[in-house]
Amino acid sequence: MNSQVIDNAAAHEGMEALDAKMTADNVSVYYGQKKAIDDVSISIPDNFVTAFIGPSGCGKSTFLRALNRMNDTIDSARVEGTICLDGEDIYTGGMDVVELRARVGMVFQKPNPFPKSIYDNIAYGPKIHGLAESKGDLDRIVEKSLRRAGLWEEVKDRLEDSGTALSGGQQQRLCIARAIAVDPEVILMDEPCSALDPIATAKIEELIAELRNRFAIVIVTHSMQQAARVSQRTAFFHLGKMVEYGPTDDIFTNPREERTKDYITGRYG
Ligand code: ADP
Repeated sequence: MNSQVIDNAAAHEGMEALDAKMTADNVSVYYGQKKAIDDVSISIPDNFVTAFIGPSGCGKSTFLRALNRMNDTIDSARVEGTICLDGEDIYTGGMDVVELRARVGMVFQKPNPFPKSIYDNIAYGPKIHGLAESKGDLDRIVEKSLRRAGLWEEVKDRLEDSGTALSGGQQQRLCIARAIAVDPEVILMDEPCSALDPIATAKIEELIAELRNRFAIVIVTHSMQQAARVSQRTAFFHLGKMVEYGPTDDIFTNPREERTKDYITGRYG
């Protein structure tokens, strides 16, 4: 379907048409009666890093989780509107949620490796998705995924050790490798560095810069500096609404909306 779209930020000068990997149209998300996301429309470009910023509690994680139906696991959550991946509605009955979550992978705030070996952490997904026909295939996927996540050299001699025995930063790269192993198209990251020290954070940020050559990446971050460093597009959320979306440089240097300006100049948040 139509993949050439002009995103909402087209009003910004110099904003070109981009390949949209995902689109959200008039999306609202409720927890029971409470509306946490109010009528958000956005297109997420391929091979870009899109950052969601805004004060705590403004709905960034809620919206991120709607992009791979992670909200399905919360009984009170309800999503209205349309979210498409490559033009295909992800909330229709025909969409297999397990397959969707492989195509739109997720990395969480706190690294959450399985209590299994490093090897099995990576091999599990490809096994259940039938991506490997032999042990040799699986070995290759494990190595490739760990290499792409910048972890191979550090763990290649101890693949049978438990994933939980790694440092926090290594665990987060293991979780990224696990997401990569099932060949995703989009990787969602919910404050992936908030539990990490500055050195581990810098490694993840470098990794994000490399990964965007292959995937569309969406990152929720409470750090404006991180958004400015890693993303090419930034969406500013406030009180459940997406106030402004555009090229990251514009959002930080020339925001159109007063509320964005107030946030980036530290007037609240
Ligand atoms: P952010 O990521 O911007 O901090 P969230 O998406 O976590 O914001 O939260 C948005 C709003 O939805 C908040 O008011 C929060 O309390 C509420 N919320 C988040 N998760 C749940 C949940 N599982 N059940 C009920 N309310 C929730």
